[in-house]
Amino acid sequence: MSLDGTYDDGNIFAKILRGEMPAAKVFEDDHVLAFMDVFPQARGHTLVIPKHSAARNLLDEDPAVLAKLILGVQRVARAVRAALKPDGLVITQFNGAVAGQTVFHLHFHIIPRWDGVALGRHAEGGMADPVELKALAEQIAAKIS
Ligand code: 5GP
Repeated sequence: MSLDGTYDDGNIFAKILRGEMPAAKVFEDDHVLAFMDVFPQARGHTLVIPKHSAARNLLDEDPAVLAKLILGVQRVARAVRAALKPDGLVITQFNGAVAGQTVFHLHFHIIPRWDGVALGRHAEGGMADPVELKALAEQIAAKIS
């Protein structure tokens, strides 16, 4: 899917928002939802998405929604740091299939990094154990402030 096109509300994140698909939720407020990535590139890989949005990517998004979203990303990233004590954090976001985007509802990735631990490949890792993801989500949620 290119940068141009229309939002498809059958995408997996729209289904998670409607409660049609399960997710290991970390945090939610009126504006954003954060949950664990099921194909994590690292332990604690968390996604943050706008709740009221029909933007496929960052370029499409209403600036007011984007402002709330990035504040949510910072809040969740701080909780990931506090919970998992990584040595660094990758915060990233892809626009268009050619750029690596695979789900076309705007989202940010928060990926903890540890010295000496290689980063998994984007969208190519194995599926995480749901029990482990739930435990990580709870650990991170406990550090939301
Ligand atoms: P993108 O490639 O669009 O930047 O990121 C989409 C992310 O969603 C990928 O990291 C992928 O692992 C993750 N993902 C794909 N399907 C699901 C799903 O059903 N549940 C969750 N929690 N994450 C998913």
